[in-house]
Amino acid sequence: MQSVKISFFSTQPYDKLFFEKYNADFGFDLDFIEMQLNSKTIQLVENSDVVCVFVNDIVNAEIIEELARKKVKIIALRCAGFNNVDLDAAKKAGIRVCRVPSYSPEAVAEHAMAMILTLNRKTHKAYNRVREQNFSLNGLLGFDVHGKTIGVIGTGNIGKAFAKIVLGFGCKVLAFDINKDEDLEKLGVQYESVDTIFKSADIISLHCPLNEKTKHIINSDSLSIMKKNIMIINTSRGALINTPDVIEDLKKSKIGYLGIDVYEQEEKLFFKDLSEDIIQDDDIQRLMSFPNVLVTAHQAFFTNEALTQIALTTLKNITNLLAQKDLENNAALLN
Ligand code: NAD
Repeated sequence: MQSVKISFFSTQPYDKLFFEKYNADFGFDLDFIEMQLNSKTIQLVENSDVVCVFVNDIVNAEIIEELARKKVKIIALRCAGFNNVDLDAAKKAGIRVCRVPSYSPEAVAEHAMAMILTLNRKTHKAYNRVREQNFSLNGLLGFDVHGKTIGVIGTGNIGKAFAKIVLGFGCKVLAFDINKDEDLEKLGVQYESVDTIFKSADIISLHCPLNEKTKHIINSDSLSIMKKNIMIINTSRGALINTPDVIEDLKKSKIGYLGIDVYEQEEKLFFKDLSEDIIQDDDIQRLMSFPNVLVTAHQAFFTNEALTQIALTTLKNITNLLAQKDLENNAALLN
């Protein structure tokens, strides 16, 4: 019997490594394509039953129609967020869509904490200074995270893991979510309105999904009620932040620190080595020019544990969907 073919888009060497390792137990025919899925690259899908995509692949109605014409049965996201997929179009086309709802929430939560500590204690600058035999401390002054008020927007898997980390640091934790988490309340997290969080927090960390309600949740209006010197951390999705508004407030020294692992226009930049290129995106260049801004290129998920879980769950999702069985985690099925 011919094996089921899966076409992977936006493949990086580490995707190949982890999927090939775990596919030994599944026996799929894996076709790794380095390019992003879009209207030009869709022609590379040939005799594939499944298309496996990542955060910046384009899976709009037009692409889905074409995938249906090519008899693709499943779109398997190897990530948690699914804002790049037109789920209605997939349903209409009869294509099942699955994702990896929770692989290692700690991986992302720990990266958010790493960004807070780096921005605050400037370890990235200290590292370079000491290598040049500059042992001065001037300019490296930080603050105690202990005792600060942290606002967590979205307390799902990642937000919950992050809230526990900052509770461990001795912070006061305020949270906003459309659903409260009782475990967190028992641990001392206080649910408040989003505006109360904007007004009271010293550090705000975004962990909600990107949708119509959360798009540009950080904008000139929300920034106007925040404390001066606020620290904003975004490891969720770039478009939660209105970048030009944030740049304006960074220029006015209203924002004290910004840590972003995601960026609204990231698909043209992230996951690529552009060190020899002229970057045409002026917003990212301006952001990177501020001494109090830390940009990482969507690496919060990037741990050994997370990549193992992503490969295993994706391959299990596909196996179960093909066998018309329930998925191990209900939240993995999107239509
Ligand atoms: P999750 O579904 O477990 O949690 C999301 C939470 O947000 C839920 O509790 C939900 O109720 C809440 N929410 C929904 N709408 C909201 C709104 N309007 N306001 C406030 N809260 C709202 O998801 P998760 O696994 O915790 O992931 C969160 C996000 O992190 C994902 O959507 C994804 O975009 C991002 N992510 C980033 C990386 C990375 O590498 N940077 C990796 C994984 C996930």
